Amino acid sequence: MKYEKERREILSAALDMLQYSLISLSGGNIALRTDEGSFLITPSAMRYETMLPEDVVLLDAEGRVLEGCRRPSSDTKALLYLFRQRSEINALIHTHQPYATAVGLVEDELPGCLVTVLDACGPCVPVAPFTISSDEGMGVLAAEYAGESLAVILRSHGVITMGRNLSEALEAAIYLEEAARTYLAARALGPVRLLSKEQIKAERSPRGNYGQL
Ligand SMILES: [Zn+2]
Repeated sequence: MKYEKERREILSAALDMLQYSLISLSGGNIALRTDEGSFLITPSAMRYETMLPEDVVLLDAEGRVLEGCRRPSSDTKALLYLFRQRSEINALIHTHQPYATAVGLVEDELPGCLVTVLDACGPCVPVAPFTISSDEGMGVLAAEYAGESLAVILRSHGVITMGRNLSEALEAAIYLEEAARTYLAARALGPVRLLSKEQIKAERSPRGNYGQL
């Protein structure tokens, strides 16, 4: 079986999605671009707790199964579209995380008003208009609305996060959920005080060995 290490990374990230309440049951999916230009994608309608490395499906760039006997995620077309649009992105995580999705029901973006989301996702997290799920159109709108952010909220559906690697995409999803929860708590108290463009730029500028041990 090819890509055993990568398959195990996907399973580990899937359990993190469960632990951080980003998905329920078999919802969402994880996709990874391999160094050969093929794609590993979690199977459709399968619980993550029981998933094994061989259940992750290996696809070619056109979505044909190269290895695996499970049905790949129903969002495969949308995910492959996003990979084609963003050559620097090697990992995609799709969740139904409740707090970020709630923001998408009332706002057009989660503003960059918290350092966690600025550092992990981008200057803001845009909300893409509703489109039906399991369709390439979901990837088209996600790519169009994400802009320079590593996360995009899908109205009335969930979230897609992106990364050069899986841990970057996972961090974007987890920090986005934390930020969305804080933002909604603040909104319930009163108007949210936003950061200025200069403050956002300063927070996002590279600073020495920040984040490294
Ligand atoms: Zn979904």
